[in-house]
Amino acid sequence: MRPPLRIDSAELRLVRLPLVTPFTISTGTMHDKIFPLLTLRADGIEGYGEGVMDPLPDYLDEAIPGALALLSEVLLPSVIGRNFANPQAVQAELKPWRGYRMTLATLEMAFWDLWAKSLDLPLMTVLGGDAAGVEVGVSLGIAPVDVTLGRVADHLAQGYRRIKLKVKPGHDLGLLQAVRAEFPEAHLTVDANSCYTLADTALLQRMDDFALDYIEQPLAWDDIHDHAVLQQRLRTPICLDESIRTPADARKALQSDASRVMNIKVGRSGGYVESLRIHDLCAAFDVPVWCGGMLEGGIGRAHNIHLSTLPNFRKPGDVSSASRYFHRDIIEQKLETAAGLMPVPLAGPGIGVTLDRDFLDTMTLETRVFRA
Ligand SMILES: [Mg+2]
Repeated sequence: MRPPLRIDSAELRLVRLPLVTPFTISTGTMHDKIFPLLTLRADGIEGYGEGVMDPLPDYLDEAIPGALALLSEVLLPSVIGRNFANPQAVQAELKPWRGYRMTLATLEMAFWDLWAKSLDLPLMTVLGGDAAGVEVGVSLGIAPVDVTLGRVADHLAQGYRRIKLKVKPGHDLGLLQAVRAEFPEAHLTVDANSCYTLADTALLQRMDDFALDYIEQPLAWDDIHDHAVLQQRLRTPICLDESIRTPADARKALQSDASRVMNIKVGRSGGYVESLRIHDLCAAFDVPVWCGGMLEGGIGRAHNIHLSTLPNFRKPGDVSSASRYFHRDIIEQKLETAAGLMPVPLAGPGIGVTLDRDFLDTMTLETRVFRA
């Protein structure tokens, strides 16, 4: 049996990376990616986690100011200087807290990286996954139809295995008609980010004509029931994203047939322990999962790739090339896809990437240090 790991210290940065292209979805436009980056230290080893909450609560009901406060004032002081026998022990420490799933995930994910490094193993190995690379699709933000047609052609030519189109009222059926006419064979999906209601059922039923792989999160971000009602009226499978924050959410969605495909985001679901449970529940219902993206920097992207090596990740994920988003990333390795596959980063144990510290320093807005 290996000895427990004592968390000696932590560093919490707030980082801002400008986006190559502003990213527009039904809830608004993002110009910069701003995120907390957490480093945990033990025995001279560092583990990294990246928060996926937005600056304001416009994707889910969680945002950066609350995340920084909870980490600084409660979560980090509660784990620093203490021994943990495994990542599950850290998760048990976090479990009593309600909500703040993204904040809890930031800390839990950093510990998993630290733990895998202390075992000198790739993170995917300690999670139970195994792959040389993972299948990737691309998520295209809202843009004029002719611009989107060009982007679809470009990404299909690069080998992306699935094209996801962000939609919103007034930018949906016409877009689908144009894209499907030009790309009859492409694997297409749409993501509404919760911009419709059951009153839009007739419009959503017309999406059945476009042979979509699935419709992602059409209804409210905190709903499961109405999605189950809608699924009864659609041929196209529904895929839930925002609505799935816990294994209980996943179980309810699966039992009520509200989600015939599921998007798992480890950074949204409280971390790996809960994401593994969601993965296994979906497998038990024979529902395929895929890994969604939150425009992560290199640390979050590396975590997503390792998670995507688990066996029920049977649909292409959103872990596309970092260069689509950033001119320069905060890690030394380039996370780039080739022929629709993203190689698993293995430049060392854990998440298999190393920080580009000089560049990270220039992109850091503030740093807080915590010691026992
Ligand atoms: Mg989504």
